[in-house]
Amino acid sequence: MVNSFDPAAGTNLGPRASALIERRRRVLGAPYRLFYERPVEVRRGEGALLFDPDGLDYLDAYNNVPVVGHANARVRAAVAEQLGRVNTHTRYLTDEIVDYSERLISLFPEHLEQVVYACTGSEAVDLALRIAAHVTRASGIVITTNAYHGTTRASAAVSPSLGPNNALPPHVVTVAAPDPLRDPVEDGVTAALFAQRVGDAIRQLERRGVTFSALIMDSVLSSDGLVTHPEGVLGPAVEVARGHGGLYIADEVQSGFGRLGAPWWGFSRHGVEPDLVVLGKPMGNGLPISAVVGRRDHLETFGRDVRYFNTFGGTPVSIAAATAVLDEIEERELRANAAAVGTALREGLHALADSDPRLGQVRGEGLFLAVEVVQPDGTDEHAPDATLAGRVVNGLRDKRVLVSASGRYENVVKIRPPLVFTREHADRLLTALDEVLAETRGAGSAARDTDGSAGGSAGGPVSRAGNRLHR
Ligand code: PMP
Repeated sequence: MVNSFDPAAGTNLGPRASALIERRRRVLGAPYRLFYERPVEVRRGEGALLFDPDGLDYLDAYNNVPVVGHANARVRAAVAEQLGRVNTHTRYLTDEIVDYSERLISLFPEHLEQVVYACTGSEAVDLALRIAAHVTRASGIVITTNAYHGTTRASAAVSPSLGPNNALPPHVVTVAAPDPLRDPVEDGVTAALFAQRVGDAIRQLERRGVTFSALIMDSVLSSDGLVTHPEGVLGPAVEVARGHGGLYIADEVQSGFGRLGAPWWGFSRHGVEPDLVVLGKPMGNGLPISAVVGRRDHLETFGRDVRYFNTFGGTPVSIAAATAVLDEIEERELRANAAAVGTALREGLHALADSDPRLGQVRGEGLFLAVEVVQPDGTDEHAPDATLAGRVVNGLRDKRVLVSASGRYENVVKIRPPLVFTREHADRLLTALDEVLAETRGAGSAARDTDGSAGGSAGGPVSRAGNRLHR
């Protein structure tokens, strides 16, 4: 990962933090990575800010879990009240889970009428795959090349972004995600090419003797580098999947709960309605709650034939948090805020990209934005530059602005703040990014020179079609 701490490189964070890193390494080991070359020690949070032990504030432009803000007062009060009263599980009769479920389901298309609760996105993906397998009596799954859907055995089996040592089983086939920077830009071509690849993948499964069960996609393909445009880009692929008798599972762990602005869910961008929807991360603002929303007949059949009970899934405390999250999103009009602040921020990013050819494309919607970092000087104008993306992420961290990088080539700077992000926060991010870009103009080329690849990337007033594709 270009944006993670390298223990071998060490840090200049001072003796206390260095000692903590060393103790952590001893007991937590390899699975526990830290963000940034100089990891951030966090003491408390408030809204879109995190504070270190010295009281310095960091602008959190990355964390989507605290969707209604760090240390949100309403969530805290609701959770404390419920925890002080009772916390059981779903086999006792309580009002709150029914009230919340009715409210949640009312936010979905009419055919999605029931919900099942779990604790993590991975568990919910796992459950959705099991439901799909049960109702289709099939096991074949199609996913995108750099998908991430979770950590359980079944969800890791559909998560190629975990790398080559996470071998995919024969019932899983990958297809390249649409690439808004490199695919042809004519209307409908990107979507049609993607749909064709999904059709080919289903035929590949059939040749292996595997019957197709489901197409599962993150509605904005976050780990493939964030694909929000052209609108409707995933729609034709879903039609192809349905034509082969499969279900469409929308993974809304990243794109759900107003992240993209006005719509509650990412799938609505694509003009298609899923059979199963997976929810997670922001649902409880940090309390572990996730869900699968689906058709009544599918969920009834699965529940009757296979049964499902999750001890911590949908406990009164997690439902209290989830209810407070919906209250906050609605009463504070956070979807409208995401749309307005997101648009202003994207405009600002476009302005920076217009004068810096290293920012190959700005894309995204609402408060989920991405800047694709490229090497503009070589023969391939769109060659990814993960090294520079890493420098940008770490440079911003040093200015106390927190973002990350992802995508197939790890060259996509990902901006995904809590929805309480304001225009002032957006300005702070843009100012810091402008400074980092200026600072990396000389250094960036030197860094690439030592890699033996093309150097020199001084920014000029270059305006290329790629930057402005998706306003
Ligand atoms: N799906 C997507 C799209 C995700 O981004 C994630 C988490 N990054 C998951 C599923 C898994 O969620 P969790 O970490 O809560 O298990």
